[in-house]
Amino acid sequence: MTLRRPCLGLPAGRPCPARRATTSRRCPDCQRSWEQARNQARPERRTAAYRRHMAVSKLAWIAEHGPLCVGYGAQPPHLVAPDQLGMDHVTSLASGGDPLGPLVGRCAPCNSRKGTR
Ligand SMILES: [Zn+2]
Ligand SMILES: [Zn+2]
Repeated sequence: MTLRRPCLGLPAGRPCPARRATTSRRCPDCQRSWEQARNQARPERRTAAYRRHMAVSKLAWIAEHGPLCVGYGAQPPHLVAPDQLGMDHVTSLASGGDPLGPLVGRCAPCNSRKGTR
């Protein structure tokens, strides 16, 4: 027998509309609301899925291209030390890109060059 407790409810202290009992902390509906609220409150980069995506993409990128920075503006692609290589979204999050979308290698200097434009 699994222990069932009342659902902890929605963000901002609102009670669970369905008043459901759940084996976890919240019923699936309330859990979804919480995740949405959390995603709006914090940058995507804090989520485990995002960090995993970054790490996996970096490994795949280095396996395929080496520690290659794709450059930016007048800077042509160049190799950097692996620990200098960051991953950057092909479509930036600022312009509506998917946080879990495709990434390219880009070093910090190129990334900041991009930011100052
Ligand atoms: Zn609930
Ligand atoms: Zn670079």
